[in-house]
Amino acid sequence: MRIEIIKCLEDNFSYLLIDEEKNSACVIDPSEAAPIVNYIEKFNINLEFILNTHHHFDHIGGNKELKKKYNSKVIGFKKDENRIPEIDITLDDKEIWKKNKFEAKIYHIPGHTSGHICYHFFNQNILFTGDTLFSLGCGRIFEGTYDQMFSSLQLFKSFPENTKIYCGHEYTLKNSEFCIEHDKNNSALIKKIKSIKKKLEKGLPTVPSTIKEELDCNIFLRSKDVESFSKLRDLKDNF
Ligand code: ZN
Ligand code: FE
Repeated sequence: MRIEIIKCLEDNFSYLLIDEEKNSACVIDPSEAAPIVNYIEKFNINLEFILNTHHHFDHIGGNKELKKKYNSKVIGFKKDENRIPEIDITLDDKEIWKKNKFEAKIYHIPGHTSGHICYHFFNQNILFTGDTLFSLGCGRIFEGTYDQMFSSLQLFKSFPENTKIYCGHEYTLKNSEFCIEHDKNNSALIKKIKSIKKKLEKGLPTVPSTIKEELDCNIFLRSKDVESFSKLRDLKDNF
């Protein structure tokens, strides 16, 4: 199993999870169809599934065209079935979805939107976190409450520390500037900032991160209570 990171729109990440034996794939959050089409046609991959973390346009933008072209099945959260375009398979909190070699557990993590989910491919130990957990940040609270976002973030603490995090946007550098302003002496953070700058200089994405790195460096995950989390979230909105 292999992951291909596909840059979309301004700063979105879509991901292809490829079963190399069958040359078939899932796409996670196709922001737009074209970059996905380019890649899968180049390698003659069968796009079987489209997985969405939430309904925002920059995560579902490619659903319709990809489904039409490849007859892929669209997967999303049950309670969001009316706003995930072309949805075929609906999943609930803590449900395991399995098809061939693809096997993921779904978690409902409201806050950014009321129907946001993440996909944990536990056999490979990779987690697609959409716009809830970013590297060194978290999503804006659009539909949920501070309490909901805070408790959604607590869930990530229960995953193994070596879990790889694939998030929805390349916001890491900007997020790091906020983290360091509020956590100046964090040596793990200082080290991480160096490594993300190196990657960006080479034109490489800063994903994947890991749960361990986020626990050490991400100021939102490190918040002790919902009050301090809420303060930081407000400050970040105007940062
Ligand atoms: Zn979003
Ligand atoms: Fe987004």
